[in-house]
Amino acid sequence: MILFAMCGALKRRFLLLYGTQKGQAKAIAEEISQQADHHGYLTDVFSLEDMEKFSLEKEKDPVVFVISTTGTGDPPETAVKFVRRIQNKDLPNDYLAHLRYGLLALGDSEYTFFCNGGKTVDRRLQELGAKHFYNTGYADDCVGLELVVDPWIEGLWVALKNEFMSRKESQAPDDDTTVLASSQTTQHVAENLDLQMRTLKISNSLTPSGALQKGPDSTAEASLVRSVPPLSQSSLTVPSLPAPYLDVQILHCEGKEAELSSLYPKETVFRVPIAQAKRLTADGAVKTTLMLELDISHTDVDLEPGDSFCVICPNPPNEVTELLNKVQLCERRSCQICLEVKADTRKRGASIPDYIPEKCSVDFVLTWCVEIRATPKKALIRALVEFTSDVAEKRRLQELCSKQGSSDYNRFIRDPSATIVDLLTAFPSCMPPLGLLIEHLPKLQARPYSAASSKLFHPGKLCFVFNIVEFAPCLERREPRRGVCTGWLAELIRGSTTIAETSDENAAVAQMCIFSRPSASFHLPSDTSVPLVMVGPGTGIAPFIGFLQHRQKMRQQNKDWTFGETWLFFGCRSHDKDYLFREELSRFVENGSLTHLKVCFSREPPDDTDENRPKYVQDLMKMYSKHIVRLLTSLNGILYVCGDAKNMAKDVNDALTDMISTELGVDRLEAMKTLASFRDRKQYLQDVWR
Ligand code: FAD
Repeated sequence: MILFAMCGALKRRFLLLYGTQKGQAKAIAEEISQQADHHGYLTDVFSLEDMEKFSLEKEKDPVVFVISTTGTGDPPETAVKFVRRIQNKDLPNDYLAHLRYGLLALGDSEYTFFCNGGKTVDRRLQELGAKHFYNTGYADDCVGLELVVDPWIEGLWVALKNEFMSRKESQAPDDDTTVLASSQTTQHVAENLDLQMRTLKISNSLTPSGALQKGPDSTAEASLVRSVPPLSQSSLTVPSLPAPYLDVQILHCEGKEAELSSLYPKETVFRVPIAQAKRLTADGAVKTTLMLELDISHTDVDLEPGDSFCVICPNPPNEVTELLNKVQLCERRSCQICLEVKADTRKRGASIPDYIPEKCSVDFVLTWCVEIRATPKKALIRALVEFTSDVAEKRRLQELCSKQGSSDYNRFIRDPSATIVDLLTAFPSCMPPLGLLIEHLPKLQARPYSAASSKLFHPGKLCFVFNIVEFAPCLERREPRRGVCTGWLAELIRGSTTIAETSDENAAVAQMCIFSRPSASFHLPSDTSVPLVMVGPGTGIAPFIGFLQHRQKMRQQNKDWTFGETWLFFGCRSHDKDYLFREELSRFVENGSLTHLKVCFSREPPDDTDENRPKYVQDLMKMYSKHIVRLLTSLNGILYVCGDAKNMAKDVNDALTDMISTELGVDRLEAMKTLASFRDRKQYLQDVWR
C-alpha cells in the first residue's frame, strides 16, 4: 500500500493533448495514456477544445500532442479555437520558450496538404519558442496510421525518459536528495510495473491450430485464418490487453426509441423529407450517380453554395443482424441496455461514450451509434483473443495483432477493409461481449455532402449528388457491399423518382436526419467581378451547380453589377452515360452565368482527328494554362477544386505547378511556393473527399 501511495506521488507526469476529427487522434491519445501508465507515467489527457482545462503558458511538464487533419489541410474542428489562440500575432517570440513537446500529426498522403493540421500547430509552437523533446511523427492513413504510430509511441518512452533525465541533471543541488530518492523509487516501481505490464511475448509452443497442427506446410497460402512459416513458428510480441472499462447490462424491458438528434448533441439536427430523387447517369454507366432534393422549407437549415451538410445514416440492417447473431443477442435486440463505467477499471478517464443515448436498445446501439464496418484495430483483435475458445483461432488472432504479424494484418484486415462481422465469421469460436464492441468500435459518423443548389434559386430546397459506393467481393468476403450511407440512401429511394410528389396521401415519404457543416472558405467571393475557375469532375461538380444557380439569380437581380469570367472544367467517362447536369450547364452558358465550359471524356473511343485530346481535367486545364495563370496572377481570380482526393486533387495540384512554372518562367520549387501563396490568400480552395 505504502509503496503504491509513494508510486502515485512520484510518478512523472506529462500533459497529453489531442485534436480529433473522427476520433482517431483521441483513440491514439488514449492508447498513449494507457501505455504511459504501464511505463510509470501519469498523464492528464484533454481535448484541445477543452482549453479551460490546461494552460500551456503555465505548463512545466512535457507536452505530447496528437493532431489530425481535416478538409484541405485544416486542423480538426475541435482544435480550431486553440490554433486561433496560438496564432495571435501579438504573442511574443518567447511566449512558450519554457515548453518542451512532442507532436504526432495524422493525415492522409492522398490529400494535397498531408498532416497539415499537426504541421500548423508544430510550426507555430516553434515560432513561440517551444522546443521539441522528440521528433514529430507523420502518420499516414493512406498506408495505415499504425506504421508510424506504433514505432512513434515506442520511441516516445525513450524520449520522455531522456527528457526527465536531463531535467534532473539541470536541477539545483538542493533538490538532489529528493530527486534521487524519488528516481530510485520510481525506477524500482517502474521495473515492477514493467514486469507486470510489458508487452506479452508469446512463444510458438502455443501453436496448436487446426491448419497448423498438421505441421508447417511451406506450400500453403496464408489467409485471414491461416498463417504460414515463418510467422506460424515465431514468438510473438503482442500488445498488452486494453483495459476493459464498460459494464453492460441488458435489461428485460424494451429499449426506448432514441432521438437521432441525441447522437449529435452539439449540432442542430433536422428531419427532412426527400422531395425528389433523380438518377443522373444512364444505364451502363460504371457508377450510378443520384441526386436527391430535400425539402428544408420547415427547417432553419441555412446553407450557402459551397457549404456541406451531414446525413445521419444507419449501419446496413443485414450486417447488424449478422453481428447480433454472432454475439448471440438476436433474441434480445429490442431490450434496453444499461451502461456503467467499471468501478475497478485501469483505463484513465474512462467514460460512457456520449453518442450512446440512455435507455436505448441493443439494436439501436449497433444500428445508429457504432460503426460496425470499421476496420478492427489491433487493440480490438487483442481484446478478442480473450473471448476465443479455440486454441488455433486464438493463436491466429494473436498473430494478427502482433508486431511480427503486421504484414498479415495489413494484407488480410486493413487492405480488404475487413469488418468485425468478417472477423467473427472467420473465427467462429470468438464470442465477445457487447461491451467490448462498444468499447472498441468507433462512433458511426454522419457523412458530409456538398450542397448542389442555391437557396436563391431553389428556396426551401437542398439538393445533393452522390455516387453509390460499391465494393467488389474479395477472398475474405464473398458478398459485394455498398457504402454505408450511399447504400442506405439508394435503398431509401428504391423504385421512386419523385417521392414527395406521390398522389397517395398515405404513402410514407422517405425522410432523413441532417445537420449543417458550413465551410470556412469554399464560397463565392462577395465581389462579383472576381474571376472564378472551377474544377469539378464527376460528383465534384456538385457545389459548382450551387455557385452557378446563385450567380444566375444574382445576374437577374442586379443588372448593373459586373461579373468576372467564370470557367468550369468538368470531366467524366463518356458523353452519353455520365455527363452530369449536361442540360443545366448549357443553360448556364446560354444565359451568361458560365463564360467558359470545358469538358473532357476519359473513355470515349480515340478520335483520329485529335490524337492529343485531353482525357482528364488536369490535361484540359493545361490547354488553357495561359488564361488560368493570368486569372490568378493578374486578376486575383479564385480557383476552386472539388471531388476525388485520391487522384484528381493531386494531379490538378501538379498540373497547376507545371502551368505556373511554364507561364511565369520559374522553376518548380518557385512555382510550388507561388501556389502555396495562392492557397494562403484563399485564391486556391479545395473541397475534396475520398
Ligand atoms: P463508406 O461506407 O464510408 O465507404 C467509403 C470508404 O470506406 C471507401 O472510400 C473506402 O476507403 C472504405 N471502404 C469501406 N469498405 C470497403 C471495402 N470493402 N473495400 C474497399 N474500401 C472500403 N461524396 C459525394 O458523393 N458527393 C458529395 O457532394 C460529397 N461531398 C463531401 C463533402 C465533404 C466535406 C466530405 C468530407 C465528403 C464528401 N463526400 C461526398 C464523401 C461522402 O461524405 C462519403 O464519404 C461517400 O458518399 C461514401 O460514403 P458511404 O458511407 O457510402 O461509404
